[in-house]
Amino acid sequence: MGAGIAGLRTLYSLRKAGFDAQVLEASDEIGGVWNHNRYPGARCDVESFDYSYSFSKELEQEWVWSERYPTQPEILRYLNHVADRFDLRRDITINARVEAADYNEESATWTLTLHDGRKASSRYLVLCLGQLSAPKMPNYPGQDRFKGETIVSAMWPRREIDFTGKRVGIIGTGSSGMQMTPVIAQIAERVTVFQRTANFSVPAANAPLTEEEDRAVKADYEARREMTRNSPTGLGFQPGKKKTLEVSDEEREEAFEKAYHRLGFGFALTYPDILLDKDANRVASDFLRRKMGERVEDPEVREKLMPVTHGFGTRRPTVDSGYFEAFNRDNVDLADIREHPIEAFTETGIRTSQKHYPLDFVIFATGFDALTGALLKPRIAGRGGVTLKEKWAAGPITNMGLGTAGFPNLLIVGGPGSPTVLSNVMVSTELQVDWMTELLSHLRDAGVREIEVTREAEAAWNRHVAERVNETLYMTAQSFYNGGEVEGKPKVFMPYSGGVRHYRRLLEQCAADDYVGFALRSTPLATQPETQDAD
Ligand code: NAP
Repeated sequence: MGAGIAGLRTLYSLRKAGFDAQVLEASDEIGGVWNHNRYPGARCDVESFDYSYSFSKELEQEWVWSERYPTQPEILRYLNHVADRFDLRRDITINARVEAADYNEESATWTLTLHDGRKASSRYLVLCLGQLSAPKMPNYPGQDRFKGETIVSAMWPRREIDFTGKRVGIIGTGSSGMQMTPVIAQIAERVTVFQRTANFSVPAANAPLTEEEDRAVKADYEARREMTRNSPTGLGFQPGKKKTLEVSDEEREEAFEKAYHRLGFGFALTYPDILLDKDANRVASDFLRRKMGERVEDPEVREKLMPVTHGFGTRRPTVDSGYFEAFNRDNVDLADIREHPIEAFTETGIRTSQKHYPLDFVIFATGFDALTGALLKPRIAGRGGVTLKEKWAAGPITNMGLGTAGFPNLLIVGGPGSPTVLSNVMVSTELQVDWMTELLSHLRDAGVREIEVTREAEAAWNRHVAERVNETLYMTAQSFYNGGEVEGKPKVFMPYSGGVRHYRRLLEQCAADDYVGFALRSTPLATQPETQDAD
């Protein structure tokens, strides 16, 4: 399910391994989030060379990225190119929204029901639904009354939207809001940013890529790939060796400056303890607040833009292009809605407890129901008709993010329990998909018809995920990492914070140990004479 980055890669790999694989995509276009998030300024905050597939040397050499950080249109072009180049479309059905998936315990197969009643069935079901793909919308009083246009950043309309001479309100200051603000500000008559939580950001240092840079990377691309696979984040950066407070103020200032101007997210790894130790984190946060502040002229606005509710990196920071400078323009305002909350939408704009903002457009850049949102949207029913929603009522539980007990022959890419949003998803996706392809090939060769995560393995993995996060500062903030982004969502840390390199080793170990943690059955459990696990 899903023809985004993960679905395309899964189709390619499974087909190559000789499987009959079919992709069902709800939209009328492939590309996943890069198809839906078409807002002005949308771009990836991972470098182009690393935000690309590594499975084909030819593809790697042929494709030429134009900028250090790729824009949404360029990534979407790339994904379409991949689909054409490898003839993937013949096995992708678009306009096919899966509403239900039911596991048949006798035949060990999945039956899928689409939105229009069509059915499909398969031995295995691979969920490639994205980690940040179920958009979340506020529900303010009077929202329906607003006579201007309301747009959700993650469901951006395909038609041209002309902001010339318009008054635009942007709600949300995560990556999406921060990326679109400076771009829309150049066109609109007035932009008002409604900020609930100020966010940390590092400037993108974006630039066109030169032929020399392109040649240099392509001359030894594999070395760069290996670096990403062996790094904690999939970004190729290794953490510095010394701890933050072990060095002199001058040395630290110099190292921070260097990382700040060049590394984007890599800033977090200037020292190995920035996300682990609160004093180290405070020093890094202070540095960033100072740098962010230097970019804003008005002292009052500057103060409001400084993140104070959390430490750097404990929520997803942003890599921005001109966000703070946008507030130096005469046509950009900041509405601090923590201090003066939004009371209601009116026919002509938004009223906060302080004043009324007349608007022609309101943009909801309000984020996603992260990690589990898309997985729990369809009704996925496993053994005994128990749904994934029921199973995960207290929070997701998986073995290495790959599957969950009670849902045989179901595999998940990029889901909770894997490095997912804490990594370059290109790298973690490829690791998972390659591993799954080997797993499925092994099952085919061994005559296995049913595979299922064991209860012991998933309990142990959840303990491990919790232990690893307790070594970090991630639980000191409310974020979409730990269910803090949706009211009523279980407040558990969902991604695996042990790093891509370690995760890769654990995957390899699991395969070497005959897929320990998974029950492999040649006869489905339900049809075995004595219903007991035969792993
Ligand atoms: P986000 O980081 O979750 O930010 C959502 C923003 O909306 C937050 O500022 C949040 O405030 C605010 N918000 C949510 N509900 C609100 C409400 N009812 N009223 C007012 N404000 C509200 O979402 P995002 O910016 O779309 O980014 C999500 C993730 O997508 C990123 O962190 C990143 O992983 C990915 N992304 C990546 C790229 C890229 O370059 N690769 C680009 C865009 C997005 P609170 O913090 O107070 O909740």
